[in-house]
Amino acid sequence: MAPRDLIDLHIHVGGAVAPHVLWSIAHAQGFKLPTKNYFEFVELITARADKVANLDDYLAIMHTWTEKIQSSPMAMERSIYEVFGKEYRGSRVSQMELRFNPMKRNLHAELDLDHIIHASLRGMDRAVLEYGVKAGLIFCLAREFDHALNAIILDKAIRYRHRGVVGIDLAGTENEALEKDPSQLDLYSDLFARARAAGLKTTVHTGETAGTGAEGVMAVVERLKPNRIGHGIRAAYDESAMRALREQDVVLEICPTSNLHTHAVSGIEELRHIVQTLLDRQVKVTLNTDGPYLLETDMQSEVQLVEMHGIMTPAQVDRALATAREASFIP
Ligand SMILES: [Zn+2]
Repeated sequence: MAPRDLIDLHIHVGGAVAPHVLWSIAHAQGFKLPTKNYFEFVELITARADKVANLDDYLAIMHTWTEKIQSSPMAMERSIYEVFGKEYRGSRVSQMELRFNPMKRNLHAELDLDHIIHASLRGMDRAVLEYGVKAGLIFCLAREFDHALNAIILDKAIRYRHRGVVGIDLAGTENEALEKDPSQLDLYSDLFARARAAGLKTTVHTGETAGTGAEGVMAVVERLKPNRIGHGIRAAYDESAMRALREQDVVLEICPTSNLHTHAVSGIEELRHIVQTLLDRQVKVTLNTDGPYLLETDMQSEVQLVEMHGIMTPAQVDRALATAREASFIP
């Protein structure tokens, strides 16, 4: 049987660049690393379930090392070029939407944001030319940034829309207070409305953290009206959240290995229950990697994981791949 043509809609540049590439970039720039041993470095930037207690630990690895090493135009051009090439060669991912926060790559405004973005687009262009992949970039707004900074990221996404920036995302750990006060999301609703009006597509990280309910997913659907939601798995515990997703036609970006490694789910059993519940209620789901190197996975492994453990049947995987193509932000 010919291998499936795969698609990945949810993949962060901060978790997708091979350690040897980051190592090489760091050395090319004279970056001071905490170790001179390559294998210790690999250990430092990999997030296995036994090393990571929760989502914050996972994000800390990205913020502390990979994002810093990627903070230059040269680093971003090479990083993005390498991610597309690797996923295509290694996993036959022929369509990919790669996301990052450009403002976490400009050393707190020491570097010019437009240079970072142009370099990123150059990296993508080179990969598209070499491998014939379909590709797009998503700019992540950050929950920990204030409104003014997020507005600048949106402005950049709009400016570069015709060059291959296909959408925006809202990323970062969800504030626990959000559960009680969904109006906090109104801080972003004008930005999301402006993105939509400019022709950008939108997605939001939510419903990922274990122990939280489906309220966050409901609030995001109602207040930000995104096309897709990153994770959103907590919705499986709430009928009204699943109804809202179905009625508003919001597609979930499920990242199985990521949820297992960050302990967003207790294990395979819970993940199977969640995915089967979502599918049973006709919520549209897709399969994604989130951060292939950080999590030591790739799209082929994600497909194998869900099929091997009966989380999805092969037919359901085919359906998820078709859904991903329909829900892709790439025109
Ligand atoms: Zn993510």
